[in-house]
Amino acid sequence: MKIGILTSGGDAPGMNAAIRSAVRQAGALDIEVYGIWRGYQGLVDQDWRPLTSRSVANILQRGGTMLNTARCQAFRLPAVRTQVAKDLRDAGIDGLVVIGGDGSFTGAGLLFEEHGVPCIGIPGTIDNDLPGTDRTLGFDTALNTAIDAVDRIRDTAISHDRVFLVEVMGRRSGMIAVHTAVACGAEAVLYPESGEDTYEALVAQLRAGWERGKRSSIVIVAEGDKNGSAYAVGDRLTRDYHLDLRVVVLGHIQRGGSPTANDRILGSLWGAEAIKLLAAGEKGVYLGMKAGEMVHVPFARVHDPRPAPPAELTNLLPVLAR
Ligand code: ADP
Repeated sequence: MKIGILTSGGDAPGMNAAIRSAVRQAGALDIEVYGIWRGYQGLVDQDWRPLTSRSVANILQRGGTMLNTARCQAFRLPAVRTQVAKDLRDAGIDGLVVIGGDGSFTGAGLLFEEHGVPCIGIPGTIDNDLPGTDRTLGFDTALNTAIDAVDRIRDTAISHDRVFLVEVMGRRSGMIAVHTAVACGAEAVLYPESGEDTYEALVAQLRAGWERGKRSSIVIVAEGDKNGSAYAVGDRLTRDYHLDLRVVVLGHIQRGGSPTANDRILGSLWGAEAIKLLAAGEKGVYLGMKAGEMVHVPFARVHDPRPAPPAELTNLLPVLAR
């Protein structure tokens, strides 16, 4: 048996742990693994080569992905997927492990439905926003990076009695923002799922904190918040209340770095499981974790509503910010 493995869409710490685990589990089952470079672009270009246990040495602790990743518009075209399915058959590749987010799983689902190519998905996205799983690879690492940065910002915010707006990643999801806010004791959080008119509520929260004697505040802003970017909210607060505030955009530092223990272990569990499933003839699902148990989720479920930040956290935040 020959299995191809690729990483697609946004890179996430822990992807390498999953690649290493898949290759070594395959070795234990006498299955050959082909690494496919730059996601679906590598499928289109037939840019694949065999991976051995030695090719995946020393990657467990590294962020990013050794297979590189890309966004591949061509793969959205049915004719291109037809050609890819033929090329895979001709090369004798019997199945694929696809590590990525919802876009990557949409593509894998189509390749499976249209051409019967066995595909197993591994959630790899720092956003933690895939239906059917409590966790995705990279979320824990991104969160810990954000927390470390906000703790540093807190020191200077306190010293200067200042308001800081800290923008974290999450164009469509408030998962990183809300978890960071709770873990850092932020005074407030703005995120996409909370809707349009949150500016007045933010002002009320900051004012209430001031009246309770708080002289500095940290507001976490998800990049996709409906009020605009952290800079837009900052400009509005400065205009309306003449605050001497500061804005920090954490940006891509949240994507990189050595994966946390949780992401290494999750990647290791999912990488091996994906190979075992393909070997057992399973196809057309992605892996997940629900209440600590491994689950298999049909690709079609990527179109379900994305999970919102847990209400127990969003409700807790204003209580803890008193
Ligand atoms: P992520 O997997 O992190 O959500 P993207 O949304 O960029 O990242 O998707 C990664 C890749 O998956 C795209 O570049 C494209 O090759 C493929 N893809 C995304 N959406 C589709 C689609 N609707 N049909 C086919 N392929 C898709």
